[in-house]
Amino acid sequence: MSQSQERHLFIPGPATAEPEVLEALAEPIRPHYGPDFVALYNDCRARFKQVLRTDNDLFLIVGPGTAALDAAFVSALPDGSRALVPANGLFGARVADMLRANRCDVEEMQFDLGQPIDSDQVAERLREGKFDVVAWVHHETSTGVLNPVEPICRVARETGTLTIIDTISSLAGTELAVDDWGIDLCVSVANKGLAAPPGLAAISVSERAWEAIDRNPQTRGWYLDLRTWRRYDGDWADWHPYPTTVPTGILAAVDTSLRMILAEGLDRRIVRTRDAASRVREGLRQLGFGMFVDDDFASPITTAVHPHPDFPVGEMIVALREQHGIYISGGLGDLAGEIFRIGHMGRAIEKEETDLLLETIAGLLARRQAQKESAGVEGASV
Ligand SMILES: *Cc1c(COP(=O)(O)O)cnc(C)c1O
Repeated sequence: MSQSQERHLFIPGPATAEPEVLEALAEPIRPHYGPDFVALYNDCRARFKQVLRTDNDLFLIVGPGTAALDAAFVSALPDGSRALVPANGLFGARVADMLRANRCDVEEMQFDLGQPIDSDQVAERLREGKFDVVAWVHHETSTGVLNPVEPICRVARETGTLTIIDTISSLAGTELAVDDWGIDLCVSVANKGLAAPPGLAAISVSERAWEAIDRNPQTRGWYLDLRTWRRYDGDWADWHPYPTTVPTGILAAVDTSLRMILAEGLDRRIVRTRDAASRVREGLRQLGFGMFVDDDFASPITTAVHPHPDFPVGEMIVALREQHGIYISGGLGDLAGEIFRIGHMGRAIEKEETDLLLETIAGLLARRQAQKESAGVEGASV
């Protein structure tokens, strides 16, 4: 058995892809232009729009999710734009860092780790301040908390504030409706909930976002400027709608993954994701683990867990990986050593996979507890 077949990814992205998706990734190289490519690109975009529930323009940008976030900031926000960033974890703080790097004037609103952003407080601040943009994370992957989107977008429309949302980890794992919620620039990626290989980011652009982009007198580079993407999509639509070379295998793999998810049904996929999270939470509780996030706010996409008193988190992560090929994540930033995280994405949502995870943790824990007891008995007899 090859190494890759033995690897069980329970990290919050990237996720283990289905064999059909990996087969598509390995297709022979094809040109990034011409009728064959145009059909693939446009089909893949149409399916991506279905998953995001949007009719807005959408571009697929080769790069990590972060590239599409930069594309939003570069295109729509001239130097000195006033940005409000509600944040409750590492990825929210990253959004603020990225906006500062794009020379925006950033006001951060900090919410507690493990608690969702309070949309009433954000609404109040939006109404009193004069912000050009409000940007935040839908699913805070560092703690496994879902943040509100629609109520903040509603107020932002009233106050004339642009909305930029990082849905990198929430896509296909929980409800997300770009048009119904009124998201102006929605950024996502293919290698988390869609369980495709890393390498492709997505961004949808509302009419209001295009107006802001067209008002921006400035440029900050070429590749990530959405005006470049719109120009190629228009002028060269029928033969070369993409501005650069494309690793076409990734596009084929993402398209395969999208087709499989849409064939299953997005709603069903979301229910199965939630069920996987419930099984893992329940199973770990039975083993004596405590959850970092209350059930009321816990996301279905990532579960953050306090370490077991008998099993330091670093040792547990290494034992799972080295002895069983099971990959889970630790805590980030201030939460390093304080929690571990389990992603519910891709093959990790299958019952056989969550069973394997729980049985393996139970076995490792039982072995440790037995060792501790025998050490205790020996210690007592000395
Ligand atoms: C994973 C993640 C990112 C980073 O995505 P990249 O593809 O590595 O750029 C950003 N935000 C959130 C919420 C994430 O989960």
